[in-house]
Amino acid sequence: MIRVVLVGAAGRMGRAVATAASADPEVEVVACVDRATTLGNPDAPGGVWSSDLSSVLGAGDVVIEFSGREGCLESARCCAERGAALVSGSTGLTEAEEAVVRESSGRTPVLRAANFSLGIAALRAALRVALAALPDWDIEIVERHHRRKADSPSGTALALADQALEARGLSRPALVHGRHGALGPRPADQIGMHAVRGGGWVGDHEVLLAGEAEWLELRHVAQDRGAFAHGALAGAKFLAGRPAGLYTLEHVIQGRVIR
Ligand code: NAD
Repeated sequence: MIRVVLVGAAGRMGRAVATAASADPEVEVVACVDRATTLGNPDAPGGVWSSDLSSVLGAGDVVIEFSGREGCLESARCCAERGAALVSGSTGLTEAEEAVVRESSGRTPVLRAANFSLGIAALRAALRVALAALPDWDIEIVERHHRRKADSPSGTALALADQALEARGLSRPALVHGRHGALGPRPADQIGMHAVRGGGWVGDHEVLLAGEAEWLELRHVAQDRGAFAHGALAGAKFLAGRPAGLYTLEHVIQGRVIR
């Protein structure tokens, strides 16, 4: 049984991980950590609660954190001190803060991902094959998210674009965000990016590769936060018992790929 400590447990992702864990016989949430002000939230998962990770964390436990920058840094420091593994999903860290999290992986296993969907990890693996096989096809990326999303395009769409840019030997200025006006024929050395906003879409990413008389669509749709929660649990199972090091979801899915 893998002992999981949830940081940010009262939040939207923390609750989604707790729900997914309650249906998984291989993991047990042994403690929930959140800021004191959110303790007692009626929607929060049951069990042992604390506002202080160090008071509930044991060696060999796996921390799953979706708690924002501060909680992420506290978790990295505490896990490195205690020899507990860390599955970390908070976004919005500065490069210097990311470096602190990376450093903690010198002392303990750390799995860090900006998108914990296993489907997106598989899409990236499939995209690598398609980009190598179709080096002169046009690439357009379309992403759809709910109307409340503040940033466009999404971080995941940019990560997919970076993968395509690198494969083509291009850099960020080659990304064209939407098109308007008499632009003439499409140059080969550009990648189109289109951010659609509206309704309640959780996350929809589509990479289109267009050839002369055919085209290919690689598309992933996240229906709810359960997609990220299941990826985080798969990550916890992958990390349990591993040596110190920095891991990604690519490592998690590699073992599952039929060669
Ligand atoms: P949320 O605001 O609903 O929940 C965050 C929770 O963390 C809150 O309950 C808050 O009280 C708690 N918290 C804040 N600081 C803390 C600290 N120092 N110690 C302990 N708890 C603390 O947010 P959310 O939607 O659950 O997202 C949380 C983070 O995860 C964000 O950074 C978000 O961007 C990220 N996220 C990542 C993925 C992914 O796949 N990697 C998916 C969804 C969200």
